[in-house]
Amino acid sequence: MSVALVTGASRGIGAAIARRLAADGFDVAIGYASDADGAAATLAAVEALGRRGSVHAADVADEAQAAAMVEAAEEALGPLDAVVLNAGITRDGLAVRMGADDWQAVIDTNLSGAFYTARPALRGMLRRRGGSIVAVSSVVGLIGNAGQANYAAAKAGMIGMVRALAREAGGRGVRVNAVAPGYITTDMTSSLSDEQRAGLLERTPLGRLGEPDDVAAAVAFLCSPDAAFVTGSVLSVDGGLAMS
Ligand code: NAD
Repeated sequence: MSVALVTGASRGIGAAIARRLAADGFDVAIGYASDADGAAATLAAVEALGRRGSVHAADVADEAQAAAMVEAAEEALGPLDAVVLNAGITRDGLAVRMGADDWQAVIDTNLSGAFYTARPALRGMLRRRGGSIVAVSSVVGLIGNAGQANYAAAKAGMIGMVRALAREAGGRGVRVNAVAPGYITTDMTSSLSDEQRAGLLERTPLGRLGEPDDVAAAVAFLCSPDAAFVTGSVLSVDGGLAMS
């Protein structure tokens, strides 16, 4: 029996990851910030797939709350085999006008939140000599994006963190990887203008935006035994966008 914790699983990409991992045989702990109804819907989907689930409200930017979430998830479902660091926010703005609060909020949630969640989970995985951690980074962390200096820095930081953790934990059989999604159809990208959308499609060889299930499939691979020899990698799920 395998157990996974997915942060930010009340909607969007995180909810799709939770459903996919449940379909692949994981019991799934569902982390979320404030959307209790969304988290309950994800739980219902996990249970409909015949797996056990649990829901955990926690602000991952708060170290104590993140640690409590990991502990509660393990109490509810058992030792974690997989942790998906998916919780994230945007606070976009051109750098010259970006307030320090918008800079800090994105670093705190996307980067520190990933570390605060990974660290307590990693301790148990190292003891048990196995596990998989997957960070949901972004194409923006690889190639940058005007108006997203905070987000790009956080997402690039996650990749550095993943590679450091992969080096620290590899000897104990714990794998740590990242996915770098391109533009995926979720609430986070719902405000793209028609012009932005057309520009993106033009730069994307596969000619479409991504779906949450596209990202979930890549995360599921990295959590599976099929990825037994994969660590420290960054798997782009972007229709080819980062090549351009
Ligand atoms: P979303 O806004 O639909 O969902 C974000 C999730 O994160 C929600 O469940 C929310 O509750 C949770 N969350 C936010 N702040 C939190 C906090 N402080 N503590 C705990 N949970 C918190 O976003 P999405 O599009 O599904 O994105 C999911 C992840 O994928 C994010 O890390 C995002 O940066 C990344 N990503 C998204 C895209 C895209 O195009 N949508 C592309 C690349 C990467």
